[in-house]
Formats: sequence, C-alpha cells, structure tokens
Amino acid sequence: MPSKYFLNFDKINYFKNKPPRGCILCLIRDNSPEIVDLTIYRDELFIITVNLYPYNPGHLLVFPLRHIEDIREYTEKEEIRLAALIKYILDITDKAYAPSGYNIGYNMGLTAGASIRHLHIHIIPRFPREIGIADLIAGKRVLVEDPGRTAEKLKVLVVQSPFSISNS
Ligand SMILES: [Zn+2]
Repeated sequence: MPSKYFLNFDKINYFKNKPPRGCILCLIRDNSPEIVDLTIYRDELFIITVNLYPYNPGHLLVFPLRHIEDIREYTEKEEIRLAALIKYILDITDKAYAPSGYNIGYNMGLTAGASIRHLHIHIIPRFPREIGIADLIAGKRVLVEDPGRTAEKLKVLVVQSPFSISNS
C-alpha cells in the first residue's frame, strides 16, 4: 500500500496551535478558532463530527450540545432525536464507505475508556479486512484516510440527503 495512505495519527494536528483548555466537545460546539472543525452535522440538540483520532475511516462522534456526562441526563426530546440521528448517519456512512458492520456505543467514565467527559457516542464502521499488521509493527493505530477528507466526503452526502427533523 502506498505510504501516503498510512498516516500516523500522532502527526495529525487536531489543534491549530497548542491543545486548548477545557472540554474539546464544548469548544467544537462553540466554534472555537483553536479547533480543526470536523463537524459534518449540527442541529439545536446534537453535533456529529469525524473523530479526531479515528479507529477506522468514517469513525464518528455524536454528542449533545449540552455538556452532560451521563446518559441518564438526556431529556426525552434528546433521546428521540438521537435515535433518529443515528439511523440517519448510518445511512450516510453506508453510502460513503459501505462497511460490513458497526460498533456503536458509549464509553462512560474515565475507567471505561472515556478520554472526553462530555457524553458522546462512537460510531465505528468495521470492515472485513482491517489494518492490523501496521498496528502491531508500529505499536499504534494508523489511518487509511485523513479525518479532514472524511469530513468533506460526509458533509457532501449530508447536504445531498438532509436529516429531516420532522421525523423525530
Ligand atoms: Zn463539554
């Protein structure tokens, strides 16, 4: 595989300068100039972004605009919207990447692996042949696509097939 397809994620600079202070998801929500914006969808309740450190191409984060840290804090309105949004964004990701499966879920709390306290759902497309060997050799994850490119690709599809709030 050509080396340009292998990007060590350490080299991807999420932050334009030094890492900003505060909650990164709140900074994305607030359109902080310090953050590289990978948002592909936004409404008055939720934002969907490409993960800064993707596990696979098309790895997304869905998070509420409100900084909450526990799923029990969702309002009913948020829960209904979220369920519809996940279905919507799976359709979009299917169109872009045609993965053979998905991992969808929360890491809630630091001990469960949540490096960001602001509640967020990971949507991780899975493929039959994933990059495992490079992981082992390098001891770290590698990417097959720049997250900025992923965001561009998905944004085009979101514009072409907008989410309908009336469905939720
Ligand atoms: Zn936050």
